[in-house]
Amino acid sequence: MSLSDFPRYPLTFGPSPIHPLKRLSEHLGGAAIWAKREDCNSGLAFGGNKTRKLEYLVPDALAQGATHLVTIGGVQSNHTRQVAAVAASLGLGAKLVQESWVDWPDAVNDRVGNILLSRIMGADVELVDAGFGIAFTDLQSKESWENALEEIRAAGGTPYAIPAGASDHPLGGLGFANWADEVRRQEEQLGVFFDTVVVCSVTGSTHAGMIAGFAGQDRPRRVLGIDASAKIDETRAQVEKIARATAATIGLGRELRDDEITVLEGWAGEYYGIPVQSTLDAIRLTGRLEGVILDPVYEGKSMAALIDLVRSNDIPRTSNVLYAHLGGQLALNAYSALFKS
Ligand code: PLP
Repeated sequence: MSLSDFPRYPLTFGPSPIHPLKRLSEHLGGAAIWAKREDCNSGLAFGGNKTRKLEYLVPDALAQGATHLVTIGGVQSNHTRQVAAVAASLGLGAKLVQESWVDWPDAVNDRVGNILLSRIMGADVELVDAGFGIAFTDLQSKESWENALEEIRAAGGTPYAIPAGASDHPLGGLGFANWADEVRRQEEQLGVFFDTVVVCSVTGSTHAGMIAGFAGQDRPRRVLGIDASAKIDETRAQVEKIARATAATIGLGRELRDDEITVLEGWAGEYYGIPVQSTLDAIRLTGRLEGVILDPVYEGKSMAALIDLVRSNDIPRTSNVLYAHLGGQLALNAYSALFKS
């Protein structure tokens, strides 16, 4: 099997745009930094990285006769919002289990941003008091998750279960394996080779899919995953597992080498969902120099890493760097207290 053998249901506008971040590059004094914009990849509720992953899960859901998409995430999950949008566009129901992954005291955390949009799109949103866990195996022991599936079955429906971040799913890595192909074609058009890709990693299949996809190109390219979960061992294990599984699924024909799987720590702070000073600095710098908006949970952390890695010369000044902007800005609405001045 190769990637093109898997059905893909188009949910995106087409290839996501790539553009240079000239003022940020100049400010850092080298390394040409470009961004590929998953935050504007779709007309479905602002899109994002999950929309791209769902392009490969939707045909499976439809083939199984699903009446509802069921998924799980934190209260301000970008993923659940994208599932709600996709379900609405397909005429399916959406059941969202929203857990308290982040201990964040904002008074409107459960009313604005992602969760607000999910409600507007008609999703059945259930707030549940449970902590942060990224693996699908965790879900199977979760009562709220089982109840959500059961509730739909009991009403005569057919639920299609999508794990957190659409990651630990047999098709979860395909969307970003496809992204790697897309980058190769865009490189040809632009006449640029991106020797370094920087991507935020939490539930793992975005980074893992890229690793599997780029492995088939076998060019001297580093794909640097930046942990934003603050649980580095879990993230590494998850990325490695999904990357190897995706490589086998798309018929890579060889094992991935260990040096192809790099997840870096140091920018997540102590907790998933809580920004640290470097996150806020990266958000402000990118906003002020480029007019590009990043969020405090994911992209602010991966951009903080990119900035540090360029400053420290771990990414050489001669590099062409592709920053994967995966979306997430809607959560900013729940973090307004951080930006009062
Ligand atoms: N960036 C944003 C905006 C996200 O919503 C997510 C989702 O978790 C990520 C990065 C991380 O992607 P993944 O969960 O596939 O590792």
